[in-house]
Amino acid sequence: MIAIAKPWLGEEEKKAVNQVLSSGMIACGAVTSEFEQAFAAYIGAQHGIATTSGTTALEVALRALKIGKGDKVLTTPFSFIASTNAIVYVGATPVFADIDESTFNLSPKAIEKALEQHPDIKALLIVHLFGQPCDMDAIMKIVKAKGLLLIEDCAQSHGALWNGKKAGSFGDVSAFSFYPTKNMTTTEGGMVLTSDETIAKKARMLINHGMQVRYYHDEIGYNYRMTNMAAAIGLCQLKKLDSFNAKRQETAAYYNANIKNPLMETPASYEKGAHVYHQYTVKIREDKRDAFIAHLDQNGIGYGVFYPLSIPEQRCYIPLGINTPCPVTDLVKKQVVSLPVHPQLTAQEAEAVAQCVNSFRG
Ligand SMILES: *Cc1c(COP(=O)(O)O)cnc(C)c1O
Repeated sequence: MIAIAKPWLGEEEKKAVNQVLSSGMIACGAVTSEFEQAFAAYIGAQHGIATTSGTTALEVALRALKIGKGDKVLTTPFSFIASTNAIVYVGATPVFADIDESTFNLSPKAIEKALEQHPDIKALLIVHLFGQPCDMDAIMKIVKAKGLLLIEDCAQSHGALWNGKKAGSFGDVSAFSFYPTKNMTTTEGGMVLTSDETIAKKARMLINHGMQVRYYHDEIGYNYRMTNMAAAIGLCQLKKLDSFNAKRQETAAYYNANIKNPLMETPASYEKGAHVYHQYTVKIREDKRDAFIAHLDQNGIGYGVFYPLSIPEQRCYIPLGINTPCPVTDLVKKQVVSLPVHPQLTAQEAEAVAQCVNSFRG
């Protein structure tokens, strides 16, 4: 069986966790601070606030920007549900714009259209889906022209670049996830990044029960602190992130050159972007997807369907009545299949995947 995802933990991580265990300082502490600084520096942001997950990082990012009840936040219908959940957690209203059919990211044209229909939109929450940065030239132009706040969901794009600049360094705030299947892990974990000191201070307070002075609570916050144990793993993983991503890119280049099947399309990438392939996602003719998945199953090849439904059509969102027509998303969700591209995949395994994909006749 070739797995769709496989976290890569080595002796360094074990040693680092053991050191934390021996120190007795196992909760949030100096190792967490060190990881925050190292990760923020890597992405190119001034401040990092480590959290318990990518989901809590997104929630804190929005609250730190004072987005709440009555505010509209434009986002993508084609993502993991946490991107939209965070908007709902803070009491704001999600507005959906459609995606681009070749990159799966928010379409700048669709963003502009949504802004015409909802001129009171306050912020954009963009997702660099599958490891590919959004078209940041077009998005920054819109953000500046309309005076919008920008939140980047970088849960799938650690190290991705647009024009040489890292995803997560464009927005007012960005949020990362370190879940085991992501490009790097801390077990569970996340981080808020910003270069604005006021936002950083507010985020720091929020993750620690609204407290700056011990047991004086200025607002109702949370316990979203990352432990030293998780951060110790994160520090080791951060050192390996570039090599992990290089492996993913190497496998993706191999697939791009060697997957040849008239029923499917390999993923497109922007010329100005560096895609870090959190997922390698092909599109297959809609009427053939079930058979293709069965074919992968029979041959012991792991796969994922990210995502089978758009977010607004999920059962939990139906009562909110926020579904807007997104025809491209509705088409793409029936075509996508993600293939194994994790960094531990061997050349022989990649060859087996490509051969299996090419042998599918429908
Ligand atoms: C994984 C993910 C999240 C949530 O991160 P968790 O650490 O699992 O809470 C948010 N957005 C996207 C796009 C994700 O892929």
